[in-house]
Amino acid sequence: MAGTAIVGANWGDEGKGKITDAFAAKCSVVVRYQGGANAGHTIINEFGKFALHMLPSGVFHPHVTNIIGQGVALDISKLLSELDELAGRGVPDPALRISLRAQVVLPYHKWFDELEERRLGEHAFGSTKAGIAPFYSDKYLKLGIQVADLFNIELLRAKLAHSLVSKNVLLEHLYGQPSLCPDSIADELIQLGERIKSYVCDTTMFLQEANRRGEEILLEGQLGALRDPDNGIYPYSTSSSTLAGFAAVGAGIPPYAIKRIVAVTKAYSSCVGAGPFVDEIFGEEADELRRLGGDAGEYGATTGRPRRMGWFDAVATRYGCMLQGATEIALTNLDVLGYRDTIPVCVAYELNGIQTQEFPAAEELNQAKPVYMELQGWKEDISGVRCFEDLPELARQYVLTLEELIGVPIKWISYGPRREQLMEKM
Ligand code: GDP
Repeated sequence: MAGTAIVGANWGDEGKGKITDAFAAKCSVVVRYQGGANAGHTIINEFGKFALHMLPSGVFHPHVTNIIGQGVALDISKLLSELDELAGRGVPDPALRISLRAQVVLPYHKWFDELEERRLGEHAFGSTKAGIAPFYSDKYLKLGIQVADLFNIELLRAKLAHSLVSKNVLLEHLYGQPSLCPDSIADELIQLGERIKSYVCDTTMFLQEANRRGEEILLEGQLGALRDPDNGIYPYSTSSSTLAGFAAVGAGIPPYAIKRIVAVTKAYSSCVGAGPFVDEIFGEEADELRRLGGDAGEYGATTGRPRRMGWFDAVATRYGCMLQGATEIALTNLDVLGYRDTIPVCVAYELNGIQTQEFPAAEELNQAKPVYMELQGWKEDISGVRCFEDLPELARQYVLTLEELIGVPIKWISYGPRREQLMEKM
């Protein structure tokens, strides 16, 4: 029995939600340990199609306890609307627990996110405006509100009043906006707190005990390795660590409880938002891949923004898997490539006239050019194939080539968006 982290090897949107939903059938706990409502996990199963932003991807399995850990940016309104949506679409009430140490995304975090992106103009980061950067800034400024604070009304009012002193100066003098009243925000939060009270507990104790009992725990990452603030494409990174190493922190379990790390990567590349994307493709080539990719084209699950497209990037993926400490890979969207005669794969970057297989840092990344190798396409629909041996020879070769380039075993192949379209490669 083990803790298993399911994490992104790239820029996010790799298909982690689908893999978590499928793996959850065989585990008892699914934990979200970082990030917030700024990214969506798409899941297609017997209940229909869902884009989960706040809820862990185990919510479709009645036997699974779903945990929102203390590393998460908890958007309570979003969480409640997702719970309502599930109920309205016939999903049995999920078992949910929320860490009393998790911090709450406040209305002004979203407002500051919006105002700052507007102020930055052409230098904006492409934020989803879910309040994530202002939320984590407040956390590290020690101005955050923990879930437990929602049930201590006097303390909550005092904390908000303290926090708004500096925020109101910014609102008035930097952004030219009216100042905010702590009491009306407190009233709203108290009401939201009442609505989640029955889910709130010490999830660290719950997880520590589940781990001691040897239960199977899934830790579900948000976004991907290249968005990690310390190791990724800073400043086009997110605000919390996207790495499996952080799962122990954001969930509250021992690092050595995580035995398996499944890095999810697509059979091609996609990326939402601004920042360097070395093997990006454009024009008709990109439009075609975007149209045919994912379950209904490659458009952001949160924003609906068209994703930027590229071919499989072995340099970025090898780096991402290394950061994650991947013990195995789940390769998704292999079915999408069935339309190509040949498929380019980025095997190196060229930097100042020299080829490298290492992922460059900072400004050098903007100068890097992709070096491609062309593989033969299989030109077949593989969405009905059940095992690796039954895949067309050229599709198998494609998978084995990626495996060799990344240097980590590809153990899972997803060949369609539905839960059951997943094979184990022995
Ligand atoms: P996540 O945030 O990592 O869970 O990824 P997203 O849900 O944002 O994006 C993954 C997209 O790929 C979604 O549209 C999924 O429905 C889709 N998807 C996942 N696996 C497969 C697959 O094997 N084939 C196809 N065609 N689509 C897939």
